[in-house]
Amino acid sequence: PSEPTRDSHVAVLAFPFGTHAAPLLTVTRRLAFAAPSTVFSFFNTAQSNSSLFSPGDEADRLENIRVYDVPDGVPEGYVFTGRPQEAIELFLESAPENFRREIAAAETEVGRDVKCLLTDAFFWFAADMATEINASWIAFWTAGANSLSAHLYTDLIRETIGVKEVGGRMEETLGFISGMEKIRVKDTPEGVVFGNLDSVFSKMLHQMGLALPRATAVFINSFEELDPTLTDNLRSTFKRYLNIGPLGLLSSTLQLVHDPHGCLAWIGKRSPASVAYISFGTVMTPPPGELAAIAEGLESSKVPFVWSLKEKNLVHLPKGFLDRTREQGIVVPWAPQVELLKQKATGVFVTHCGWNSVLESVSGGVPMICRPFFGDQRLNGRAVEVVWEIGMTIINGVFTKDGFEKCLDRVLVQDDGKKMKCNAKKLKELGHEAVSSKGSSSKNFGGLLDAVASIVHM
Ligand code: UDP
Repeated sequence: PSEPTRDSHVAVLAFPFGTHAAPLLTVTRRLAFAAPSTVFSFFNTAQSNSSLFSPGDEADRLENIRVYDVPDGVPEGYVFTGRPQEAIELFLESAPENFRREIAAAETEVGRDVKCLLTDAFFWFAADMATEINASWIAFWTAGANSLSAHLYTDLIRETIGVKEVGGRMEETLGFISGMEKIRVKDTPEGVVFGNLDSVFSKMLHQMGLALPRATAVFINSFEELDPTLTDNLRSTFKRYLNIGPLGLLSSTLQLVHDPHGCLAWIGKRSPASVAYISFGTVMTPPPGELAAIAEGLESSKVPFVWSLKEKNLVHLPKGFLDRTREQGIVVPWAPQVELLKQKATGVFVTHCGWNSVLESVSGGVPMICRPFFGDQRLNGRAVEVVWEIGMTIINGVFTKDGFEKCLDRVLVQDDGKKMKCNAKKLKELGHEAVSSKGSSSKNFGGLLDAVASIVHM
């Protein structure tokens, strides 16, 4: 690579919880590869960094990416009370000071001032930080367009629907936001009009919605053709709005597939569209009763399965389940999901509807059975079911043996399951086109590179 130019230093600020830092790193790698003279300093907590970079990974690192640990905000000797989001709150309390200190240290080490902040969109404070240091702010919303829009238009939704006693209005749709006509009030994330509006997390998202129009660019891991009306809407609101996904269709070229439990070999032997792949992401585990219901439903339906389930949860499975289903399926603590969803044999994805999961399923053309829990998951599940018509929500919202069996039958066997599959295939093709050399996402990635690099090379 050529020698870095004088001002070419980008600070990348990761949100170290859930599946946020990994896609940001994927984008950083692509940018660093395309702009070899630019230095990218990647700031994240030690714990999150250690899950992103395994010790054997060194060869895979680009020279112009430098990785820094920032403090996680947990005081010395602190005893966790078990409150939800406690770790997130401690982290946010220590931000942005924790980042500021590390950025200053990196500037000294690299010998160049930071001229661009590339951050998780959650970090609303980056708007002011960028102004202070005369840098640009480029924000990455790691979820979909619907949830981005729900946070961007939070004040409008609150004015229209109200914030108190919204119980009677839960079924109403958000027809007053162009592109969200089929989304109901009850699908919105907690903290918009119901749930705790004053939690640290809700306030962060509200602030973010107010700050994002100040960003030089907002980019997301999606593609324009998936939500064309919302794309137009958001494009008119942000200075620049760039869909650069699906990232899952690109990442395998940069990383080796890690499959220690042999899922791909196992699924390779199954017939087309026959297997149920089950995973609820990195944060959520269904309650024990629902885990048992999933197992019972699988067993009685005889549907072949790959189930990603942490070892500590195996105790909740019915006695003898693993033995009895030895031929039918495999339960593994971690699965190569992106690759599994690209396999012909995968017939349905049973998911919590985290954004990465939904988009990976779309990219593989796999219909979904949705069991959303919190945050943006209900919005994503709603879009799967009624906007894109590529899946269904679990009957009555929770897993029961019979309900799950019926869903498996509907998606894998019945005619409307075939329709879902057909719709999913069409979206998969659009996703592939978007990331092809002349596609919308490739063009937008060029725009992102330009937004990062043109400022850097001033
Ligand atoms: N994932 C995986 N193997 C597993 C479970 C999860 O590769 O066994 C990956 C999955 O491909 C996705 C991410 O973990 O990229 C989960 O992200 P998502 O946004 O769906 O959910 P979250 O973890 O944020 O709840």
